[in-house]
Amino acid sequence: MSALTDKKTAFDLRTTFPSRVSIIGAARSGIAAAEYFIKKGVPLFISDSCPAEKLEKILSDKKLEKVPHESGGHTGQALESGLVVLSPGVPSDLPIVLEAKKRNIPVWSEMELGFRASDATFLAVTGSTGKSTTVSFLGEALKAGGRESVVAGNIGIPVISVVAGISKNGWVAAEVSSFQLENIECFRPKGAAVLNLMKNHLDRYRSEEDYYGAKKEIARHFTNDNYLVLNLHDDKLVAWADMMKKRASVIFFGSQPGAGESFWYDESAGKIRYRFGGKQGTILDVSDMKIGGRHNFENAAAAAALAKLADIDDAAIGSGIARFGGLPHRLEFAGEVRGVRFYNDSKSTTAESILVAVSAFAAKVHLIAGGRDKGCDFSVVLPALRKHAAGIFLIGEAAGRMQAEWEGAVPLRRSATLEEAVAAAARSARRGEVVVFSPGCSSFDMFANYEERGNRFKQVVSELASLAAGKASL
Ligand code: ADP
Repeated sequence: MSALTDKKTAFDLRTTFPSRVSIIGAARSGIAAAEYFIKKGVPLFISDSCPAEKLEKILSDKKLEKVPHESGGHTGQALESGLVVLSPGVPSDLPIVLEAKKRNIPVWSEMELGFRASDATFLAVTGSTGKSTTVSFLGEALKAGGRESVVAGNIGIPVISVVAGISKNGWVAAEVSSFQLENIECFRPKGAAVLNLMKNHLDRYRSEEDYYGAKKEIARHFTNDNYLVLNLHDDKLVAWADMMKKRASVIFFGSQPGAGESFWYDESAGKIRYRFGGKQGTILDVSDMKIGGRHNFENAAAAAALAKLADIDDAAIGSGIARFGGLPHRLEFAGEVRGVRFYNDSKSTTAESILVAVSAFAAKVHLIAGGRDKGCDFSVVLPALRKHAAGIFLIGEAAGRMQAEWEGAVPLRRSATLEEAVAAAARSARRGEVVVFSPGCSSFDMFANYEERGNRFKQVVSELASLAAGKASL
């Protein structure tokens, strides 16, 4: 399947290029796009809303200062191009973007650009949570199967920065955000997993339906040669599967087999199994995996389904999945203090991520949560809190709403800072219990990003551990 068979615009990036390209947003992905077009000799214009000083620094660090550019906003100069490329952080309803579309100037996301520029086959992962983990499982399975492959996209590696290194026999495991799906034209991966559709990003979308609609764009050009890997436990995705069956091949994943093609975690046997292409088999025993929790076994099942599309054998998929040790800030072990283990789950920005975090441990959990409210439905966590939590410590802007939802279920207190919450959780946890920092909110009320937030948590835990070790040796 060629990336370009259903190309809609006049240039295909292999033989024909636009006369000039405007890049809106000079973040990592915009810069990678600029570097690509410079190599191809295409004139560029970079437009960013950030202050001049900041943009000058970004461009000079990358030796791009000679590229014509504007800062502090976007003017008509950005419209004097044959193509507009958007960085993932740039909203699609920006007036300059709407004006470009009105003038019939194609507007591409980094995913569309990367797809156009590559002859490799794409396998995509999207959904509200679990994308980075699942695409990493997939990357490991492709590697273990000896495939020429790369993991890119929303995980932090712009697709356009890696496509030159991958041939038409290769595979791109692409993590795709809903924002990247807002501006695609012919993006058509061979297979796409949609992990879940949760109430998320309602700060950026007008309604839940708009957000779910953006995710479904991943299958816009699907035919029966394309596979949709869908979560059997998500009613919205099951309903969508019914609609899509006519024009795509559907594979279900979850904790039990669905009707037809399926990859699933068989809890009673502790194995990931499948039924696909007229065959049945076992991918691996989950006790061989380095990361645990039912959600990760289900993520692994989704990744296994995509890896099968690259025709990799069961044992290689299993060994790839087994060797993946997890990503920082996703239920990452942060240290132990007086027999209490601490976990950093700073990447958790939805209520559902809190739910899977507190459910992932056999021991009682002391949960630290809160941050900037993204409009999640926190009531979904209540049953898991009742079952698994021994204490709740709330911080940040969402603390009030969380308290209103959870008060009375488990002892709960509010703290002014993360440091105070960690100290309070450490005091109340007993030997053998765990403290989990799973904010379920974005970090921007107190931190620059989730990495800074998670690193601060790890630092506080390591200070507590040194203090406790010091006291123990006195
Ligand atoms: P994403 O890339 O979609 O943000 P990550 O793999 O980085 O997803 O995980 C983000 C957070 O979601 C982490 O807190 C992780 O523990 C949690 N998580 C991972 N997989 C799932 C899942 N299938 N359902 C709910 N939460 C999940």
